[in-house]
Amino acid sequence: MKDAVEGVPAPSAKLAGSLLFAQLPTSPRVSRSDSRPEGQTGPPPTARATPALFCNSQNGSVAYSGQRASVIEFSSPGKSAAARDQTSAVHSSGGDVLRVSVLGSGTSMGVPTPGCHCAVCKSSDPRDNRTRPSILLSYSGHNVLVDTTPDFRFQALRANLEHLDAVLFTHSHADHIMGLDDIRPYNLKQRCAIPIFASGDTLAVLRRTFAYVFEEAPPGSTVPLVELREITGPFDIFGLRIQPVPALHGPSPVLGFRAGAFAYLTDFSSVPPESKLLLAGLDHFVLDALRYTPHPMHSNVEQSMALVDELRPRQAWFTHICHDLGHQAANDRLPENVRLAYDGLTLEVDL
Ligand SMILES: [Zn+2]
Ligand SMILES: [Zn+2]
Ligand SMILES: [Zn+2]
Repeated sequence: MKDAVEGVPAPSAKLAGSLLFAQLPTSPRVSRSDSRPEGQTGPPPTARATPALFCNSQNGSVAYSGQRASVIEFSSPGKSAAARDQTSAVHSSGGDVLRVSVLGSGTSMGVPTPGCHCAVCKSSDPRDNRTRPSILLSYSGHNVLVDTTPDFRFQALRANLEHLDAVLFTHSHADHIMGLDDIRPYNLKQRCAIPIFASGDTLAVLRRTFAYVFEEAPPGSTVPLVELREITGPFDIFGLRIQPVPALHGPSPVLGFRAGAFAYLTDFSSVPPESKLLLAGLDHFVLDALRYTPHPMHSNVEQSMALVDELRPRQAWFTHICHDLGHQAANDRLPENVRLAYDGLTLEVDL
């Protein structure tokens, strides 16, 4: 827990939106810059020559000079009228907007679960088809991914993800990291390293799990090209202030992330009081609610409802959902301000 908590400021009386971030300290400490050649396919990325930075960053500030379109449209029927209505109700000012795309809303085994023939796994409702948990933050032409699930390749194709600018990791469990290898197409297309932000503990697991990324690559091989950045407190990515929200996932630390009036907190079983203060005044809150019955590592529906009642976001969305919850049936039991997330759900909040 120490790595995750370290650097998180004392709670402020003004926690909503940009007011929160305007009072917080700046960039994270860079633990290591590690650039690897991508092998035989194409010329070396420019990031090799400037290993501390990436993709046209200038003077130490992380910013692209290019004009990257940020059109993320799912072809999945999961993008329903209900979701569009929800987003349009929130997005109205015409200023900078953070668009949140739920790439995956399922638990670690996904739904349907292989070998299972339960009603939810056999459901014809596309919202019951849940890939592993991940979201994409899109703003000002940038795309920041939260976690690289084993389904990342599929999710990127489904979302028409044209470019990828950074990855945040919540923690190091397999359902959140095992798609890291699939960022390689973006390395090649963008010809640069992709920065990865995570706690020190998570970075250590990434280095161990993906040792081939950080060792001398055999000639001709293609490996992810990344730069590791340890999260020790609030940090900026492309002008967006990210507030880490430490929580516990069973005995292990996990990070949620807040940006403006949006927060994502997956894979948690308890939230310490100081982190609850960081989750005040939210418009949209996407949080773990694995199932109805208790679980030692995850918040269940009842526990997550209690947290929603305490924090009072305008709208809460449950994610990391297992096959115990059918989408429609579960929603019918929830209050209007709480819905199940689903693959393809998009939300927008003003920045
Ligand atoms: Zn998980
Ligand atoms: Zn099932
Ligand atoms: Zn986990």
